[in-house]
Amino acid sequence: MAKERVLITGAAGFLGSHLCDRFIQEGYDVIGMDNLITGSMDNIAHLMGKENFEFYHHDVSKYVHVPGELKYILHFASPASPIDYLKIPIQTLKVGAHGTHNLLGLAKDKKARILVASTSEVYGDPLVHPQTEDYYGNVNPIGPRGVYDEAKRFMESITMAYHTYHKLETRIVRIFNTYGPRMRLNDGRVLPAFIGQALRGEDLTIFGDGSQTRSFCYVDDLVEGIYRLLLSDHTHPVNVGNPDEITISEFAEEIIKLTGTKQKVIYKDLPRDDPKKRQPDITKAKELLGWEPKVNRQEGLKITYEYFKSLDKEKLFQKEHKDFEKYIVK
Ligand code: NAD
Ligand code: UDP
Repeated sequence: MAKERVLITGAAGFLGSHLCDRFIQEGYDVIGMDNLITGSMDNIAHLMGKENFEFYHHDVSKYVHVPGELKYILHFASPASPIDYLKIPIQTLKVGAHGTHNLLGLAKDKKARILVASTSEVYGDPLVHPQTEDYYGNVNPIGPRGVYDEAKRFMESITMAYHTYHKLETRIVRIFNTYGPRMRLNDGRVLPAFIGQALRGEDLTIFGDGSQTRSFCYVDDLVEGIYRLLLSDHTHPVNVGNPDEITISEFAEEIIKLTGTKQKVIYKDLPRDDPKKRQPDITKAKELLGWEPKVNRQEGLKITYEYFKSLDKEKLFQKEHKDFEKYIVK
């Protein structure tokens, strides 16, 4: 009997590549799709040539064609780090809007179930803490983060519309800051930024006074939560993240300890609309999916640090990170 097929967009990215691994491990045939705008073939090199994996180099903001049957679609294509979506704002809006529309159309045609990757950014700079799914958020539509936040809010909206109007089987995951191997060392997100700085012998750059908080989830936990949500019958958004909240200053101290760097922290301006607090309320995920994170930060950071250390020295010094500051909107 032919195996069931899954389409994963953003497959050459950090999360997409881990999802490809998981679905192959679960016995599916996986089609990975990506235009490589922020992803890398390095992330899926180990899958190329396998008989249960196919790769389509395609921009999902353009019409998406996949021959044959599809059981599931997971739509993860989108720039995801603040620096990336500041650099490529129009593509970010298009992949959240046109890209999502194209994949919903494909899901309808194939009678496939679709799960879309939303984000804690739909809550903006939240006035409710921790964030529950019924909070509508505090988003500045015309600020620098608006291109991402509003694209994801539109994504949720059109996904629910396809569910109610076309009776499509849909799932929406709201992902909170996730980390792990295969993050891009120079994507500007805080964890690769700090580890990269430590490895290059540079000072760690804290934006603002470092009192803002985040809650970091290890990638394997996230993938498990997404897998369970896909197989559940829950169509409303579900937060998936690790509620262990930490200030960015404390986080910098943890990275200094982990890497043994002799460098210090230095302070830079806080980018505009940078959320002051972020922590998922995961009551819904616990009750509906029987899910909660299992990997603590100490363990997860150790694995991630080993990964970054194993990369070519050349990657460490790629010029891209030097340009970041010009994209930070103060
Ligand atoms: P990533 O940049 O590593 O991966 C995104 C992938 O999508 C890249 O491979 C990129 O090339 C691809 N892509 C972008 N636009 C595309 C297009 N138009 N057509 C085809 N491919 C395209 O980022 P990530 O951290 O893996 O994030 C994946 C998804 O998860 C994104 O949708 C992001 O919004 C969401 N998310 C991630 C986090 C996190 O902490 N990592 C948090 C919230 C939401
Ligand atoms: N940040 C920092 N130094 C850096 C990169 C990021 O202090 O070199 C801060 C950033 O201002 C934010 C937090 O770390 O408050 C998390 O940033 P990230 O870009 O990882 O993701 P966000 O959660 O803001 O989308």
